[in-house]
Parts: sequence; structure tokens; C-alpha cells
Amino acid sequence: MNDYKRKPDWIRVKAPTSKGYIETRNLMRGLKLNTVCEEAACPNIGECWTKKHTTVMILGDTCTRACRFCNIKTGKGNPVDADEPAHVAEMVVVTDMKHIVITSVDRDDLDDGGADQFVKVIAAVRAASPTTTIEILTPDFRNKPGALEKVIAAKPDVFNHNMETVPRLYTRIRPGARYFHSLNLLSRVKEIDPEIFTKSGVMLGLGEQEVEVLQVMDDMRSADIDFMTIGQYLQPTKKHVEVEEFIKPDQFIAYKKRGLAKGFLHISSSPLTRSSHHASEDFEVLKAARLAKLKKQTNHIHQDAPIDIDEMKKHNPNHSL
Ligand code: SF4
Repeated sequence: MNDYKRKPDWIRVKAPTSKGYIETRNLMRGLKLNTVCEEAACPNIGECWTKKHTTVMILGDTCTRACRFCNIKTGKGNPVDADEPAHVAEMVVVTDMKHIVITSVDRDDLDDGGADQFVKVIAAVRAASPTTTIEILTPDFRNKPGALEKVIAAKPDVFNHNMETVPRLYTRIRPGARYFHSLNLLSRVKEIDPEIFTKSGVMLGLGEQEVEVLQVMDDMRSADIDFMTIGQYLQPTKKHVEVEEFIKPDQFIAYKKRGLAKGFLHISSSPLTRSSHHASEDFEVLKAARLAKLKKQTNHIHQDAPIDIDEMKKHNPNHSL
């Protein structure tokens, strides 16, 4: 058992009590949908659910991995629910959701790691609400050939897969995963479909060094990841790994500046940042940033266009070229 470290003032959040929160909770119960908001004991639940923003967690409430930071129940996976795609779509329609985040537990027990259910849920949401943009936060599909390609072909707008921590801490924090496998997964998304925005995140306060976080940023940029999220790890129960350090808000701001200078389109970095927090607003920022980058590149190409001497002579016959 690991004792809790006392949380600093900048981490404290109020218990959720709003009418919107209760309505969202009743809706999710009624549709038998799980959320990572509840299962992972997310500190932002009061804020998000008041605004009807949830992150739906498909493929059951039991994960086949046992990461040392995660509050989600571990064990044998639940049977796949054939009604789940329709229930997710109904939730999107009822809440008039502009942008949905869909995640899942790890399903190492399924041949395709759950890829088929992701595809079905994406298709059901698209059919029910064609203007809703779709973000998926997937497991790593390790040892599941063809699973990633199947999900990419369903064309989510944002593909998120969290790196979670620096490579040195993987064996302690995320023993069932491999750092370079996760990085490669995100790189493959961009290679196969460059239109899809890619996103990944890390938790701080697990004992990582600043230089290691900066190295993860460089690795993510070499995998062409567009958007990075950085938040503080919080210990969910005494059975989970302890917080080594509460990183100060100023340090999160410093990481954001460093990351933007490295070329990310967007960085969300604060103690309470979670990968799906403000996902809808962040998607708008991403689109605008990509457009601005493309415009800049186009202008640059025009300015740097090679000089066509023959063309210039044609228009300036008297010039001594
Ligand atoms: S930040 Fe994400 S996981 Fe947390 S409550 Fe909001 S939507 Fe749910």
C-alpha cells in the first residue's frame, strides 16, 4: 500500500453536484454506457459533465492490462455488447454533441483488440449525427495485426493514443506496453492517412526528469504528432503507484512553450489537463493551426519559387539576364 501525498492547492477540485452533472450521469446509466470519466476517477468530472461532455469507454468496464497508474478494473474482458454502437450514437444525438471522444479498455483477449467495435461505433455516430467530429483514444493494438489499419480506414477526425510516461518508467508504470510500439503506432496513423490529426499525452509527477520529457516531445515530433497533452498524475487509490512530485503550474507553462517551439500544432499543459479535457475546443484550435501552417507553407513556396529565366525573358525582353 502506498500512502497518498497531500495535494497542493492548485489541484483541489469541488465535488460534482450540478443539475447538468446529474442529468449526464442518469443518461449514461440509462444507456448502459461506461465512461473513463467515472472509471478513472477523473478530477474534471464536475466541470465536463455539467457541460454534457463525456468520454465514453467502449468494450466493457474491465481492462486486460494492469497499468500501475490506472483506476480501471482489471480482469477478464466483458462480452462485446452488440447494442453499444447504437447507444453511443443515441447519446450523441440526445446531448447534441459536436465532438465526441471514444476510448476503450485494453482487450488483449480479442483477436482484433476491439478494433471492430471502434469501427462500428464510429459508423453508428456518423450515421446518426454526420456533423459530429470523432476523436478516438485507443489501446496500443499490440500483437493485433491489421487492427490499426481497420480503425484508420473508419476515418476518425482525431487519433489519440497516450504515451503516458517517459521510456525509462515503462517497466514500472506501464509493464504491458512498449514505448516504441506506441510511438510507431502514432507514426503509422500519419503515414497511412495524413489528414487525421494525431494526439498523445503524458502524465507528470511519476519521477521523470525534465530532459526526459523534452526527449519524449522530440520523439513525438519525429512521429509527426500534432497535439500533445501534459497533466499531473494523481494517485487513485493506495494500491496505485505514488505521486513522486506535484509539478508546479509554471513548469506546465514552460513545457507548453518548449513544445510549441518544437513544432506541435497545439499543446494543452496544466496540472488538470487530461487527454479528453476540452477536446471539442482543442479540435477547433487544431484545425485553425493546421490551416495557418498550410498558408504559411504556401506563401513560403511562392516566395522561394525557383526563378524561371526563360519565363522572365519572355516578359522582359530588354532585360540583360
Ligand atoms: S477530462 Fe475527459 S475523462 Fe475527465 S471528466 Fe472530462 S471528459 Fe471525462
